[in-house]
Amino acid sequence: MTDTHCPYCSLQCGMTLVREGRTLAVQAREDFPVNEGALCRKGWTATGLRSSRERLTTPLVRDRATDAWTAVSWDEALDVVAGRLAVIRDEHGADANAVFGGGGLTNEKAYQLGKLARVALGTRMIDYNGRWCMSSAASAGNQAFGVDRGLPFPLADVEQADVVVLVGSNIAETMPPAVRHLDRARERGAHVVVVDPRRTLTADRADMHVQPVPGTDLPLALGLLHLVDAAGGVDEKYVATRTSGFDDVRSAAAAWWPERVERVTGIAVAQLRELATLLMSSPRVMVMTARGAEQHADGTATVLAWVNLSLALGLPGRPFAGYGCLTGQGNGQGGREHGQKADQLPGYRMIDDPAARAHVAGVWGVEADSLPGKGLSAYELLMSLGTDGGPRSLLVLGSNIAVSAPHTARVAERLAALDLLVVADIVMSETAALADVVLPVTQWAEETGTMTNLEGRVILRQQAVTPPDGVRSDLELMAGIAERLGAASTWSTDPEEVFDELRRASAGGRADYAGIGYARIRAEDGVFWPCPDADHPGTPRLFEESFFHADGLARFVAVDHTGPVEPVDGEFPVHLTTGRVLAQYQSGAQTRRIKDLPDTGPFVELHPFLALRVGAHDGDPVSVRTRRGVLRAPARVVETIRPDTVFVPFHWVGANRLTSDALDPSSGMPEFKVCAAEVTT
Ligand code: SF4
Repeated sequence: MTDTHCPYCSLQCGMTLVREGRTLAVQAREDFPVNEGALCRKGWTATGLRSSRERLTTPLVRDRATDAWTAVSWDEALDVVAGRLAVIRDEHGADANAVFGGGGLTNEKAYQLGKLARVALGTRMIDYNGRWCMSSAASAGNQAFGVDRGLPFPLADVEQADVVVLVGSNIAETMPPAVRHLDRARERGAHVVVVDPRRTLTADRADMHVQPVPGTDLPLALGLLHLVDAAGGVDEKYVATRTSGFDDVRSAAAAWWPERVERVTGIAVAQLRELATLLMSSPRVMVMTARGAEQHADGTATVLAWVNLSLALGLPGRPFAGYGCLTGQGNGQGGREHGQKADQLPGYRMIDDPAARAHVAGVWGVEADSLPGKGLSAYELLMSLGTDGGPRSLLVLGSNIAVSAPHTARVAERLAALDLLVVADIVMSETAALADVVLPVTQWAEETGTMTNLEGRVILRQQAVTPPDGVRSDLELMAGIAERLGAASTWSTDPEEVFDELRRASAGGRADYAGIGYARIRAEDGVFWPCPDADHPGTPRLFEESFFHADGLARFVAVDHTGPVEPVDGEFPVHLTTGRVLAQYQSGAQTRRIKDLPDTGPFVELHPFLALRVGAHDGDPVSVRTRRGVLRAPARVVETIRPDTVFVPFHWVGANRLTSDALDPSSGMPEFKVCAAEVTT
């Protein structure tokens, strides 16, 4: 029996893996406080991929002329990869090699990947798919609070809140075990409010569903602040003693009177007033955003608008109240703390900070001057591939960018323009199928490493089974490349040794893991960062005394509504939004291959009024066209969506053919959540 955690989302539900003959059974852990014995169907079926015939067990090299794959040994594959990376570096410079990571990688892998890029390859060109997940909330958190930790409180604190507002979050489908905490809050009499253009399963359980036009969460927050201020609901003492910058925010909100907000968001004035009154009804109010609010070209500003509202109400730092972001990917939190982001070094240090560079270079045993500077954000990096002066190679770990990136046709063009694409994966994903070299790596139950869940709790994934022959860990892969390149520093393949190095590299940083060791995680069932030394208890709740800016204050940041980059018009008259379904996870590379999970393929959800207008019938195919592409898929006619909006899940090839690649200027987040579309039969 091995205690570990689910391989998928940021809840990181606790589970025990039990060997039963040749099979591996999943038991939910009752003693892990996040899921308390519950799992969703993805968790229950997580071992299904072990027995998949599609599992890769030998390195493959593709002949571009014939498109034929040849199985090779690991040594041959690594010789090819390292040899070609060296040639590209010699001919085109260090930045001609690029690296792309993932928010599902363990902390150890994410850390080592950043080190591989900066030390072994010397390239500034590294980023990861978490850029497309919570980067807008991260950017807003850093601006407002001076730190980016998704939830500044344990998830179970939700049970003690009196009002919970979920903005663009569908936890009943994306992380069902979390709903128990909401339900307990409701049993105590709490009000749950869901802001979402679709009446989701989560909205169905709420006391109030606010259904705005896609892309208008920001003016909604401004309008609520307007009403709160007009009603004398601003916590003036808190604003005066714990924050700075409120005057500009107050002025911006003054221009968003209720009738104007109704015109822009589609939310009736009466409901706006009802929600504002609810927000002022108790000191225990929690506001939480997720991808629905964040995946916009103004995603950072949208999150800041909700943070401003929370600060005006005096919530952050108050018991059982505050603002939080519900992180998405399994290690979405830790994956953005330890160096695989273009602008970061381990411990959430910034790569352009001389002191941070000196500290991390000291741990790595290299000169600070040898570390490259800041690179490009994920989509910008992909768009630079194979261009004049852009990278000539890309090494991809833990990401299926051919499906998950926006405007995938352009991404496919850029990948095809590379001299070398190397993909490490457990199956032949859509991205691996485009590669020159595919490296088969260990998965979840076959490996040990830490993950940091949506609460900032560092937990331990423990190896339960031996990997199949022919498979190596990502740490072995990285060590193999680094050693062949003659890289400085040490390249351990032991996860605990890598974690101990990470702890030293993070010491003194914003995400300080120095006091968190494997033994302690096992003994305490997870430790919350920051935890600067072994005697420190960890920090489940942030902001009780002060925020992370040097003056200890939170910052209001004035924002205003700009709207989606691509408004609807005569040719593309409806809003397209995308999201997840219960049985699938992210690009579906894993879950689509688990036979016990329903694989419906993509579908188009639309309202009966829209269906009538375009002549669509439930179950029959319809075409969704945007300025970037077309998807043809069965219609699902439902009354739960706005009549001016269509929804397509993004787990299958096709949804991101349609999505917009407009980027948030602060976070680099693409506008996945809204673009203009046409629906035809
Ligand atoms: Fe796994 Fe998330 Fe489901 Fe929990 S909610 S079982 S972590 S996918």
